[in-house]
Amino acid sequence: MKKNIAEIINISNEIYDKGLVSGKSGNISARFKGENGDLIAITPTLKSLSQLNEKDIVLVDLDGNILTKGKPSSEVNMHLEIYKKRPDVYGIVHTHSPYATGFAHSSKRIKRHEGFGEIKTPFIAEIEYEKPGSNELAINASEGLCNEDVLILKKHGVICVGKNLKEAELLAVFVEETAKTQFVTYMLNSVEDII
Ligand SMILES: [Zn+2]
Repeated sequence: MKKNIAEIINISNEIYDKGLVSGKSGNISARFKGENGDLIAITPTLKSLSQLNEKDIVLVDLDGNILTKGKPSSEVNMHLEIYKKRPDVYGIVHTHSPYATGFAHSSKRIKRHEGFGEIKTPFIAEIEYEKPGSNELAINASEGLCNEDVLILKKHGVICVGKNLKEAELLAVFVEETAKTQFVTYMLNSVEDII
């Protein structure tokens, strides 16, 4: 368990340093095996992911019972619903990374690039806006991730899942870079060549 908590703090710092989360936004979690079933370690509410200590990480069970001190992220239900529907998922990263979230606020969609594995559909999956922290968002996001490892939450942000937290982080970085590349391509195509 200590290892899981240390990894959450480490990856929280990494995604903050990479600019995927800013201020007190974003939340991440990891699943691990407890004595009486799976447990989820999740980042707390209202705290920057750059300033976490071991005692800030909150443990919950899959039913949402809080097992330690502190208050979990307001998106804890979204994380729990995803873990329930995806037994293969052991790490979740939710960010408002600027380029991908820019697309989420626009009518444009992010194309899938090489690196997502087999390209089954031309665009990254997305779901319509639901209020952050709401049950509707938890249900729709978890359903949207049944057959996907990354999902755009319209007018909100990005959520990535993986067989471990590191995989989810790598995907979150990749999605942001993909969105950035597409944005730069749009910009370059929109201006005349200067000779
Ligand atoms: Zn969010």
